[in-house]
Amino acid sequence: MHMKIIDGHTHINSSRFIPAEFIQGVAHNMLADSLQKFDRAKINALSTIIHSQMKDHYGDQLVTDMDSANVSKSVLLVPDFSYVFNSADSIDSLAKAHYEICRRHENRFIVFIGVDPRHGSQAILSFKRGIFDYGFKGLKLYPPCGYSSSDPSLYPFYELCAEHNIPVLLHTGPTSPQLTFRYADPFDVDDAARLFPSVNFILAHGGIVNVDAAVQQCQFRPNVYLDISGFSSMSGAEGWVGHLTHLFSRGINHKIIFGTDWPLSSMTETYTSQLTKFVAQDGVMKNCLDLEKEKIMYKNISKLVGETAN
Ligand SMILES: [Zn+2]
Repeated sequence: MHMKIIDGHTHINSSRFIPAEFIQGVAHNMLADSLQKFDRAKINALSTIIHSQMKDHYGDQLVTDMDSANVSKSVLLVPDFSYVFNSADSIDSLAKAHYEICRRHENRFIVFIGVDPRHGSQAILSFKRGIFDYGFKGLKLYPPCGYSSSDPSLYPFYELCAEHNIPVLLHTGPTSPQLTFRYADPFDVDDAARLFPSVNFILAHGGIVNVDAAVQQCQFRPNVYLDISGFSSMSGAEGWVGHLTHLFSRGINHKIIFGTDWPLSSMTETYTSQLTKFVAQDGVMKNCLDLEKEKIMYKNISKLVGETAN
C-alpha cells in the first residue's frame, strides 16, 4: 500500500536556528575518544565545520528530501535556547523566520514553537503570537535548558494549550553536554500530564531513550504520547530495526509518532535512506496491522495537531 507520511520531528538545517554552543557540545562528544584532555580549540574547529554545513536556511533542501521520500508534511520544532546560550537567536525572530518558511512552502510544515518559562510574561506574549498570528500548532519545550516540564511556571502555557487544543512536545533523554540531563526523564512530565488531562504531551525520543519509563507513561496516561526520533543513530546489538520491531509490539501503537530528528539524524544516514528502510514491506513495521502503520506514520500526529496528511 502507498503510505501517507508525516515526519513528526524535524528541524530546519540552518546555522541561524541551531546555536553554535549547542553544536560545540555535539562536537565535544564526537571528539571525546580522540582528545587527550579538554581542548577548546579542537572542539571549536570541528563545530565550525559542522555549523558551516548547515545552510538550508529556507527549508528548500528539506522539502526536496521530503518529496523524494514521499513525506507530505513535517513538524518543525523550534526550541528556545535564548535563556542559556548567548549564540541563540530570540524566539520572536525564530518564530518570524519559521512563519516565512511555512509561507514559502505552503501546506508542508507544522510548527511547534519553543518557550523558556523563565522569560515570564514576555514568553506568554511570544507564544500567543505564534499560535494566533502565525498559525503554529504546538508548544515545544526543552527541559534540559534547566526547568521541569511540570514546573508551575508552565501552567499558564498549559492553560492556553488546553483552551486551544494545542499539544506540547518536550525533549527527553540526553542532549548537548552543556545542558542539564536532570529534567530529561519521561516521568518528569507526570504532574503536568495529571493536572492538565485535556492537554496532550509528546515525549520526544521516548521510543529511543528511557524507553520503559516512556512506554509506561503512554500506557497509563491517556494524554501522553512518544516519538521515535533519533532512531537511525541507535547503536547496540539489535540496531534500530530490531529495537523498533520490539517497540511496535508493546501495545501502544496508538501513541507512537514517527519522526527522524532531521538534520541531527543526518550524521548517520540520508533522509531518503532512513525513510525507505522504515516503510519497506519487510521492515520494522512488518508485524503491524495496516491501521497501526497508519497511526504511527501520520494518523497519531494528525489527530493531535488537527491537520491531515494532504
Ligand atoms: Zn530534535
